[in-house]
Amino acid sequence: MNFIIYLLNWYEKNQRKFPWRNTRNPYQIWVSEIIFQQTRINQGYEYFLNFIDKFPDIQTLAAASEDEVLHVWQGLGYYSRAHNLHFSAKFVCSELHGNFPDSYEKILQLKGIGGYTAAAIASIAFGERVPAIDGNAFRVYSRIFNSERDISKTRTFNYFFHLMKPLMPENAGDFNQAVMDLGAMICLPTNPKCEICPIQTECIAFCAKNQQNLPVKSSNLVIKTVSLHYVFVTDSQNFLAKKRSQSGIWKGLYEFPEMNDDFRQKKNVEIRNLTHKLTHRILDITISKIEVKSRQLQHFALAENCLIIPVNERKNYAFPKPLENFLIVI
Ligand code: SF4
Repeated sequence: MNFIIYLLNWYEKNQRKFPWRNTRNPYQIWVSEIIFQQTRINQGYEYFLNFIDKFPDIQTLAAASEDEVLHVWQGLGYYSRAHNLHFSAKFVCSELHGNFPDSYEKILQLKGIGGYTAAAIASIAFGERVPAIDGNAFRVYSRIFNSERDISKTRTFNYFFHLMKPLMPENAGDFNQAVMDLGAMICLPTNPKCEICPIQTECIAFCAKNQQNLPVKSSNLVIKTVSLHYVFVTDSQNFLAKKRSQSGIWKGLYEFPEMNDDFRQKKNVEIRNLTHKLTHRILDITISKIEVKSRQLQHFALAENCLIIPVNERKNYAFPKPLENFLIVI
């Protein structure tokens, strides 16, 4: 397959330079892959550096508290990624003597790691010849092979995985990263830059003038609107917050108490309506401010099972992005 050689040659000269590409350390590659699963490179870049600075190895991450991990992750969203990283770090340290699993199949067993991430780590850190198939790779492969298979189906992942696996070159890590870079720089979702593409002569969709129609992706995503009504209870020096323990996107983060009858009886000023968009949900958030005396704040803290947080220490607590934005401007 000529496109493999062409792509590797192109990658050698044109690859994007990132700190996580200067290493074969599986821990750092893992962290980078998890951060960039749902975050754009320019958004996640500083987060990656901070994360590695704070938790330079898997032992440090395993020994950290949930609060410390979430604090570094704060603002990045999709917090289950941070929970799973932390969980798996503890698992590797307690069950595998701190040795990161060294094959695709073993890496796949870790919580929060799917086929793409396992293949990326296995190929880049350990040289295993497995294809890493994410959104970029789906697009590139759909076009190279002019495939109209629906990429939202698991069977299409399996199809490309088994198609590419026997074709993987010895430097599989470089090849996977070449596919990622081609997808990010040239084989773009709309208006692919076919005129400068290094594999244009090998691309069946280009020859068939079908590249703009690919990949095929059926969308059955139902976006729900969820309403949340918080109260920001403050004595002007402190405010109330509680750690979210139930499962969900904000598990482990801090939030304000929710509006209930006790608070409704107080004179409150509705000060903010916020809309926060997530992949599957739109959060319609209302925050009402209630000003109370210090003694009453303590009463509410007990009744609502809340912490009293000094306003000037709010940065020490990880809040979800919309609440963090609210705290910045109060
Ligand atoms: S020729 Fe165009 S469609 Fe084909 S891989 Fe290159 S950029 Fe993508």
